Amino acid sequence: MASRPKRLPRVITVRRADYLSPNMIRVTFAGPELEGFPPGHEGANCKLILPREGESREEFETYFAPDGPEEKVHAVRTYTIRSFRPESLELDIDFVAHGDNGPATRWAQRATEGAFLGLLGPGPAKLTDFYADWYLIAADLSALPVAEATLEALPADAHGAAVFEVPSKEDIRSITVPKGVEVTWLVQEDVHKPSTAQVDLIRGLDWPSGTVQTCIAGESSVIRALRDYLHNERNVPKKDTYISGYWKIGLIEDQHQQMKRAEAAAVQA
Ligand SMILES: Cc1cc2nc3c(=O)[nH]c(=O)nc-3n(C[C@H](O)[C@H](O)[C@H](O)COP(=O)(O)OP(=O)(O)OC[C@H]3O[C@@H](n4cnc5c(N)ncnc54)[C@H](O)[C@@H]3O)c2cc1C
Repeated sequence: MASRPKRLPRVITVRRADYLSPNMIRVTFAGPELEGFPPGHEGANCKLILPREGESREEFETYFAPDGPEEKVHAVRTYTIRSFRPESLELDIDFVAHGDNGPATRWAQRATEGAFLGLLGPGPAKLTDFYADWYLIAADLSALPVAEATLEALPADAHGAAVFEVPSKEDIRSITVPKGVEVTWLVQEDVHKPSTAQVDLIRGLDWPSGTVQTCIAGESSVIRALRDYLHNERNVPKKDTYISGYWKIGLIEDQHQQMKRAEAAAVQA
């Protein structure tokens, strides 16, 4: 039996949940539980602890009381801080609505005012130091929050390319980007079929001279191919690349994280 986490989460409350597009839900949390949440962490990870089906807030909260039960009974999933407004204590997290087969997605698809979950984090913001001549941003829907946060933080005179892969043309949204960043949207309806669309497009880009920084995340096999291209064919130094697998076809998050840890250990061995 796993022991309870060392850090205790905030239990936060939904103010509203809206579909941004057919496959993306923005959940806005608000309330005094967000007092002291650090501003300026857009794009950072957080961990969401999901209540069990039918669980009351009172019962859920007993797990995080100093003398609460030791066992870990709740699913935990990783998400991105999309935005936080300290003046109104409002926090947005964008969820891909990918069906009913995952506890986080199931929770988000049903979330209404007053729903709750546990939040741990945020971790550190992903990209804070912008020094490149050219930026490459690539994301599927799961990574659109980190991509959007990064694009909003880029210097106004930044140049680069942003490539987004979404499951329907209705998921294409207006996104704030610096004038020098060219945006391409790709539509791949079946997200459970391995896709090479982003890799093919990025391979076809005129590769610039000078320093390149990246913010790339999404399905694991796409990330593997892009990492190989950037590091082995384009020799982009690892320190200049944020590139991360956010989910993997056929694996739940715990299995995906386990796979990533095993791969990292194999590289270090
Ligand atoms: C650092 C980081 C930040 C992330 N930020 C976000 C975010 O802001 N928004 C967001 O939506 N996701 C984000 N993700 C991805 C999210 O953690 C995973 O998609 C997670 O698996 C969702 O949990 P679940 O309970 O819905 O599904 P799980 O129980 O983990 O998986 C159930 C099934 O759904 C499939 N699945 C999982 N994710 C997707 C998907 N995106 N599309 C289609 N099928 C999927 C799995 O392969 C599995 O078959 C992030 C991941 C990481 C590592």
